[in-house]
Amino acid sequence: MSRRRAASRSVVHLATLVTVALAIAACGGGGDDASEGSVPTGSSLPAGETGGTGGGADGTETVAPAEDDGHQGGAETITITKEQFDELRLQVLELEVEVDRLQVAAGLTTTGETREATGEDAGAEEDAADTEAPEWSYDDVERWGELAAEFSACGEGDEQSPVDLAGATGIDLPNAVMRYQPADATIIDLGHTVQVNVPEAGTLELDGTTYQFTHLHFHSPSEHTVAGDSWPMEWHLVHRSADGALAVVAVLVEEGPAWPAFDLLITSLPIRQDVEDVVYGEVDVAAFLPEITAAYRYDGSLTTPPCTEGVSWSVLQGTITMSAEQMEAFASRLEGPNNRPTQPIGDRVLAQDLSA
Ligand SMILES: [Zn+2]
Repeated sequence: MSRRRAASRSVVHLATLVTVALAIAACGGGGDDASEGSVPTGSSLPAGETGGTGGGADGTETVAPAEDDGHQGGAETITITKEQFDELRLQVLELEVEVDRLQVAAGLTTTGETREATGEDAGAEEDAADTEAPEWSYDDVERWGELAAEFSACGEGDEQSPVDLAGATGIDLPNAVMRYQPADATIIDLGHTVQVNVPEAGTLELDGTTYQFTHLHFHSPSEHTVAGDSWPMEWHLVHRSADGALAVVAVLVEEGPAWPAFDLLITSLPIRQDVEDVVYGEVDVAAFLPEITAAYRYDGSLTTPPCTEGVSWSVLQGTITMSAEQMEAFASRLEGPNNRPTQPIGDRVLAQDLSA
């Protein structure tokens, strides 16, 4: 991890810890006293920190601290009301702004300087942060290959993504095995997408290879198309094997009823770009999947520079719905569409798994 990313993570850490401290102070040092003022009653902090006996009242919710390296055990939870939650979140944001301002003043970082090189490849992204990868945007999507030597695959590669899915060959393929569990997450607005990192989310087993889930991010409109038709949104669930190979599961989105799992991410959207923030609750990757997980399968690439090939793609045949408001919450973070045009399939096999 680069020093800059480490620094921004510490900011989140510091802000979270200070907020917890503020909450403890606001509760008057513990107990179940009905506090006056802006902090609602019924809050419960860990007994070890407050001496209180806890006990959540109606309308409370339990929030696991994002990271608690500073504590032993790691199983502490804080029960707060929604109102209290919003107040704490506001305090965190204010503190983040203040810490960021101090960092800029101290010359540690410059706001907006940390735009990352790739949405798909979390590892390369961390490496790239130290070497100031070239800037790119969707305005020059046809010229990505010319922007830098390390982006050459974007122009010269012959197994690129995304592709149009029409004309796929129906085959009964072995099913992918997804083993996901709820886990702590962070969220970052990279400018060209919003990325949700869930490093402990679980694994994907595909053709005998086990891939660890790393993160999900979105494209609007969709990158994959069928006979030229696109969807309003597409989520990419990115996985990495022990030897660095990538497998991406793509989920296409239709407009319709809200998909509840996205609400947690929307609530946690950072105010500012390029600062990694905590997601206020555990993220279960399985909650973002459609019922039908049979997929279109092909070998492709990252759809953002450096367009690295050797990525195993599974575009799910089942789709999910999101409300227009939910999609707008994410899409409004972009300056414009963030879908790379489809690339020629060439000699590749495009398979449609029939074992739905
Ligand atoms: Zn993507």
